Amino acid sequence: MSSDTQNMESIQYKCPNCNADLRFNPNKQGFSCEFCDSFFTVEECKAANEQMQTEAQEAAPAHDEFAENNQLYICQSCGAELITDLNTTATECVYCHNPVVLKGRLSGEYRPSKVIPFKVSREQAVSIFKTWCGKRKFLPKDFLSESQLLHLHGVYVPFWIADCHIRGRMRAECHKIRRWSSGDYHYTEVKEYEVIRNAELDFEGIPADGESKVPDDLMEAIEPFDYREEKPFEMAYLSGFMSDKYDVNKSQVFPRVRNRAVNGSDQTLRSSMTGYDSVRVLQSDMNVLQTKWQYMLLPVWFMSYQYQGKQYDFAINGQTGKQAGTPPLDNAKLSRLCMLIALGGLLLGILGGFLA
Ligand SMILES: [Zn+2]
Ligand SMILES: [Zn+2]
Repeated sequence: MSSDTQNMESIQYKCPNCNADLRFNPNKQGFSCEFCDSFFTVEECKAANEQMQTEAQEAAPAHDEFAENNQLYICQSCGAELITDLNTTATECVYCHNPVVLKGRLSGEYRPSKVIPFKVSREQAVSIFKTWCGKRKFLPKDFLSESQLLHLHGVYVPFWIADCHIRGRMRAECHKIRRWSSGDYHYTEVKEYEVIRNAELDFEGIPADGESKVPDDLMEAIEPFDYREEKPFEMAYLSGFMSDKYDVNKSQVFPRVRNRAVNGSDQTLRSSMTGYDSVRVLQSDMNVLQTKWQYMLLPVWFMSYQYQGKQYDFAINGQTGKQAGTPPLDNAKLSRLCMLIALGGLLLGILGGFLA
């Protein structure tokens, strides 16, 4: 047995895109990922895994520090796993307002790598909320109460930000056409080219949120966040705020991320084939060879409100102050107004009767 084969059998390689365990595929003589469908040659796999190992070793001390300095709270009602620093006490769940229970520490592998710190204070968030409410009539009375305002929480929402390295190959049949006339003769000259592009591409900063309890459209509505203000994560940022252990992992968001990276690479290579009268792409292979993930916390002021069996969510971008949400409507107030209008109509009718 050669030493190479021995290595392949004893080392468990991880997928450079989604971190799942890889399996050797004897037919293709390389490694396939069953989770995200990626394929790597032995060399590609080795190189990426060595790099991942070095990075993991470098991150280890920070992971230990994180594990020692966070508090993990569990909501027994909705299952949310909330974290904060040692000096902050969590009392209620930011999503369902039920009491949370301290359950020890979150392990170091969940340490975020980056954070965009809050810039909008609680006072500013409350005033944005009140202005937003002021523009809306028929809100239930207790929606604006002081006790409801206590449910406005500063939450660092977990996000996956992906940088993808892609190896692409595109083959196309291209034509240059020239037409001219000479006397009674018309000429058409068609030159055919086989155009091949081999490229290495990098796509950076593809976002995907890792929290299933926050509605995706609500998060999209308060975008964008300015990534130029990102900072290396430190526990101190969590002081006075809650964060949340992600419940959607890399391998679950990777198909979405890959789609965007592959489409973007395909577009880039297509747009590089200029100077022809026609371009017909015959083959386009875009392979994501490695994905670097940044687990980033983004600042959101979040409030949920239960009203007549329905949940209403309200959010403010904690960096820019942009707000979004659906206001609850007080049906009793609404129907009183309808009755007044109807009554008005009735009176007019009676009045009309008198005048006639
Ligand atoms: Zn994978
Ligand atoms: Zn909850």
